[in-house]
Amino acid sequence: MAQEIYGIDLGTTNSCIAIINPADGQPQVINNQSNLQTTPSVVFYDEYDTPIVGTDAKNSMKQDPMRAVAFIKREMSNKNYKRSIGNEEISPVKISALILKKLVDDANLAREYEGKAPIHKAVITVPAYFGNDEHVLTRQAGEVAGLEVIGLLNEPTAAALSYGKDTFEGRTIMVYDLGGGTFDVSIIRMRNGNLETLSTDGDHHLGGVDWDERIVDVALAIEGFEVAYADIKDKKEGGAMILEAEACKKQLSTQPKAPMRFRYGGKLHTVEISQSSFKELTADLLDRTIACTHHAINLIKEDVKIDEIILVGGSSRMPMVKERLMKEFPNIKIRLDRFEPDLAVAKGAALYAANTSVIDDKSARSYGILTTDGITNILLRTDPMVYNGTTGFLTASDNQTSAIVQVYENSSSEGTIPVSAGVLILKKELTWGKQVPKGTPVTARVSRGKDGIVHIAMECEGSSTQIEIQPERQLSDSEVKKLKDEFQDIVL
Ligand code: ADP
Ligand code: MG
Repeated sequence: MAQEIYGIDLGTTNSCIAIINPADGQPQVINNQSNLQTTPSVVFYDEYDTPIVGTDAKNSMKQDPMRAVAFIKREMSNKNYKRSIGNEEISPVKISALILKKLVDDANLAREYEGKAPIHKAVITVPAYFGNDEHVLTRQAGEVAGLEVIGLLNEPTAAALSYGKDTFEGRTIMVYDLGGGTFDVSIIRMRNGNLETLSTDGDHHLGGVDWDERIVDVALAIEGFEVAYADIKDKKEGGAMILEAEACKKQLSTQPKAPMRFRYGGKLHTVEISQSSFKELTADLLDRTIACTHHAINLIKEDVKIDEIILVGGSSRMPMVKERLMKEFPNIKIRLDRFEPDLAVAKGAALYAANTSVIDDKSARSYGILTTDGITNILLRTDPMVYNGTTGFLTASDNQTSAIVQVYENSSSEGTIPVSAGVLILKKELTWGKQVPKGTPVTARVSRGKDGIVHIAMECEGSSTQIEIQPERQLSDSEVKKLKDEFQDIVL
């Protein structure tokens, strides 16, 4: 029997875990211990600084928003992130690891009831815009949670795969993913079983919660209070109201009207919100997603025709999303069969995990080295994910004994680009200890595995010194091990 591997959507707002059902070969979501298909990506530290993860954590947020951590995925690349709750130091890796552990522990418990062995292998999905650092951190979070991370897969790729690997053969699709706190749009093309990310765009501070906030603001205004959600978000009332607003919003996805009930100023209030007023109130938010879709289309250099749009993310359940897209792109088919916007990514990851050889996912990023001509890309976004290659450079001046190697991440698919088009991710000195004439070859060997993490090794001809280039890690291997040991005793 093929080995069993979980597919995990580690989301900004909600996470989900799936596996292939051996009976029919189809991906299946494993409900958590609260019997829900998705688990809020929220960690709450109780008065003893013990972490609580998921639905209970989200509900506890009402009591004390300052003891809760939500939307941690937005901070994954923030090197300056610093926060502590009680005596606990919070880091994006640690919080992500707690969420992963909760998902896997719950899933393994569900398996145990069915007499099945636990699984500790997983493919974890990441946004297509995640760079090398975020890939490393996501992988480390998995390791801390006690997982063997088989691969990291781009979320839009996973979403497309959930429709079956042959569904989009020969087609170009737009993946519109409106989640709880982020909006991502990717355009991907499937050719000969290979998936290629042609462009990505998005807004990492735009998601369902912005729609919730609008409901809070309008409800407060209708009842005559001169405060907005922003003023009360760290207070108990704010924490409770945003959850009430979310419940109201979800009802509005299927009903023309819904009540928004809330307590403010010591009194209970009920305000009725209609679907049409909600739509008007939030039209500018939807407009921002549409602007991103056009930007993603314009980023593609070649002439491509988009064949279909798939809707991903819980917020695309709002009827206004489909309506607006149909108006904006009247000639493009919007696929609504198997419409499971909040489960598609985990299901696609499970399919990929079970059969990793069937597709070749592509990164949305290129990597290059700074030379006198600008950035010379040594790994292009059009290259396969699993990659091994070498590029030759020449020393620039006589008697050189060292060179400063600067690695840039970028989204170009061209060989040489201006420095301004890239982001410096690493600077390291390569020394070879003896003077060499100008024009001596320096070789860069670049490789990348299924986890999307890039390794570069550089060497000057005739010398034995080599440098290994890896992004600076927020956590060293020993820190990962220490956290992993600590985590073994945590019961979530
Ligand atoms: P993420 O990818 O950010 O982790 P999800 O894809 O799970 O998040 O989307 C979460 C968002 O979807 C939340 O803002 C939630 O309120 C919203 N959502 C879920 N179901 C519905 C619904 N039926 N109608 C409107 N919004 C919904
Ligand atoms: Mg998501």
